Amino acid sequence: MTPRWEASRDDADAALRLQGVSVAYGNRLALDGINLSVRRGERVALVGPSGAGKSTLLGLANGTVTPIGGRVEVLGVDPTAASPGALRALRGRIGAVHQQLNLIGPLQVVHNVNAGRLGTWSRLRALRSLVRPLHVEEARAALERVGIAAYLHARTDRLSGGEQQRVALARVLVQDPDLVLADEPVASLDPARAEEVMSLLCGVMDGQAGERRTLVVSLHDFDLAVRHCDRIVGLRQGRVVLDVAVEEVGEGTGERIYDLTPDP
Ligand code: ADP
Repeated sequence: MTPRWEASRDDADAALRLQGVSVAYGNRLALDGINLSVRRGERVALVGPSGAGKSTLLGLANGTVTPIGGRVEVLGVDPTAASPGALRALRGRIGAVHQQLNLIGPLQVVHNVNAGRLGTWSRLRALRSLVRPLHVEEARAALERVGIAAYLHARTDRLSGGEQQRVALARVLVQDPDLVLADEPVASLDPARAEEVMSLLCGVMDGQAGERRTLVVSLHDFDLAVRHCDRIVGLRQGRVVLDVAVEEVGEGTGERIYDLTPDP
């Protein structure tokens, strides 16, 4: 297949570019010469069996995984060559959504939402906000967008799992990142909840000034990926084996996807 890296006309404006990138853990290749270019504003689903390399690819994008070869560019920055300060600044522009929500249960919701600002706040400011929350109206507006404004001052661990998921998404909203990386955000949820969380996640991709954030999300459920994303990238054994726009997904594609599922 033709790698998107070569095919994309919008490379200059890519949110994520991987060119011939390989990652190894010990002597085992986790990613094997990956070529991938994700345009700004695009919603890309990474699908493939467990162990295919999806988390590793997301780790490259947030600069926590170092390649053994190839070139990585995230929002115009090479994280492998960036200074600690530049890397910190880059991470401030990247939002993370995980299965584990990383909320602090005993704190009020407003503080967990404000945690989205920690990348830009000094330690003193963060401590001050714990005593008397700052940016309360922005936190309320973010909670409003995910439908739980009434819980602004509630203790976070008193909220249901679904409500806590919304708090985590409100935290992304106040962070206002350009790129959101989501690693299996719906893996442990029933189909109805998974659908709801994907809708909410895609809802927070609309940025404040009307621009669209870029989303790269790993998903097990192919149909869910088709319903919510623009493009499906299939990984298998560390290689890109499928790269299609959802409009190109037909019945034949489904069969190819099922071919992704079992490890040979
Ligand atoms: P996926 O997210 O698709 O399940 P991963 O990126 O987690 O895949 O893993 C890709 C490959 O790299 C697998 O073979 C996995 O066992 C291996 N791997 C991932 N993380 C580590 C690690 N920290 N140490 C050693 N091997 C790892």
